[in-house]
Amino acid sequence: MNEAKPARIASFEVDHTVLLEGMYISRRDGDVVTYDLRTRRPNMGDYMDNRTMHSLEHLFATFIRSSEIADKVIYFGPMGCQTGFYLLVRDLPAEEVRAATVACLERILAYDGPMFGESAVECGNYKNLSLADGKREAERYLAVLKRTEGRGFHYEKGAGQK
Ligand SMILES: [Zn+2]
Repeated sequence: MNEAKPARIASFEVDHTVLLEGMYISRRDGDVVTYDLRTRRPNMGDYMDNRTMHSLEHLFATFIRSSEIADKVIYFGPMGCQTGFYLLVRDLPAEEVRAATVACLERILAYDGPMFGESAVECGNYKNLSLADGKREAERYLAVLKRTEGRGFHYEKGAGQK
């Protein structure tokens, strides 16, 4: 057996102690860009609860996959640390991805129908969903994006980018 030490993954190189809420480019793999949609400041005792995270996942994934950048979206899903989401997109200017993210959050806030994918066939924990909880987080993150507009997509200085 090869007992080589596992490589430290790129996201562990980011200094999470200085990371604020916002939208960042986490990594690039060829033409695939991973965005860090940071909804909460890490390690401050302020985390999305599972229902909130799960609900926003269903809502955002549905709307971003029916947005103008739908054919460029590879993946959207929550971080296990409960302080944000990853959005993987192919081959688009970052400002376009940001605009689509803002539009997606606005669509969620305006939405008043049934929760998407709320059935045992479509989801692994379908009772743990709430439109109101998802909308509350969408509203909160939308305010973050408006507040941080024009800041760029780099992690703050000291946040591991060399
Ligand atoms: Zn689900």
